[in-house]
Amino acid sequence: MDRKSQTAVLVTGGAGYIGAHTAKALHERGFLPVVFDNLSSGFREAVRWGPLVHGDLRDRAALGEALSAYDIKAVIHFAGLIEVGRSTVQPDLFWDINVAGTISLLAAMREKGVDRLVFSSSAAVYGQGQRSVQEALAEEADKAPDSPYGATKLAAEWLIAAQCKAYGLTAVALRYFNASGADPSGLIGEAHEPETHLLPLAIAAALGDGKPLTIFGQDFQTPDGTCLRDYIHVSDLAAAHVAALDVDLPAGAFEAINVGTGEGRSVSQVVAAVGKAVGSPVPHSIGDRRAGDPPSLVADPTRARQVLGWTPRCSSLEQIVEDALRWERNPRYGAGRRDPAKRAKADASA
Ligand code: UDP
Repeated sequence: MDRKSQTAVLVTGGAGYIGAHTAKALHERGFLPVVFDNLSSGFREAVRWGPLVHGDLRDRAALGEALSAYDIKAVIHFAGLIEVGRSTVQPDLFWDINVAGTISLLAAMREKGVDRLVFSSSAAVYGQGQRSVQEALAEEADKAPDSPYGATKLAAEWLIAAQCKAYGLTAVALRYFNASGADPSGLIGEAHEPETHLLPLAIAAALGDGKPLTIFGQDFQTPDGTCLRDYIHVSDLAAAHVAALDVDLPAGAFEAINVGTGEGRSVSQVVAAVGKAVGSPVPHSIGDRRAGDPPSLVADPTRARQVLGWTPRCSSLEQIVEDALRWERNPRYGAGRRDPAKRAKADASA
């Protein structure tokens, strides 16, 4: 399709994991995804479906230029820091990038008259609070983030909601549960440096090209003592973003919507599923709890169905593990993070 006739959408953080999958989904729906990314954690190779604008979220002028240069009609905002553990030791950096970065983006959008936003939020806004581990989370649940990361996502939501009211912006915040899996094409997948997420670490351990996995705590008040999470296939998440762009909302509306399956899986269940798919068990040990980890985060996905008309299509644990394994066996980028020899070589030449 001729690029000029396509509706352009700015995807901040579009070189990252969920951003790249969403860029692909946008392309498949006829949009032009314009990726804005400083490549601090994203990968140039993940930007395949539209142009890359190399820039930092806190650089308002650069954002303004990108918004004008491509006649952007809407923004999907992923850029930010995501590691829960790191946020407990560098909270100031998280507030700067995740909150001040969002202030900068909103200002640039307002200046250029772009009035539609989809924001990458997180189930981490809830925290465990007084909730029992059996309870699925509806959007109205108490917000008591267990980590500075979750606090920055909640603060950014509040900021966006206020801007909607004040300036007529229309926004949807998607509160993701655990993004996982990879595009079935094998072209894009999960690649964080350093990798902190359960599924890639468990697969790397099972394939023998990573360290043995440490399970962070087996003494939670959950059925098998390990944490419960709601694992959602990244392609399903990407589809939710495209649906959120299209949803018919009045000017000034702000909606926060959970994106999960409604099914909780324990760390031990994930580890067992990986062992089964790989054909050899995941070498692991039991360690201490990780700071900021609530025992259970499981979505009530009712509102996503009602407002977005969205339901997950490929989020069975088996499908997620199969797609993640295909990617981890043949990652197109970011492989150095798992191989100590490659890592040392890359570090030496940096
Ligand atoms: N986890 C673990 N070992 C690891 C990484 C993660 O036991 O090396 C656990 C973690 O405590 C959490 C679950 O796996 O209960 C999912 O963690 P992840 O970092 O993948 O996502 P999060 O839930 O923090 O967004």
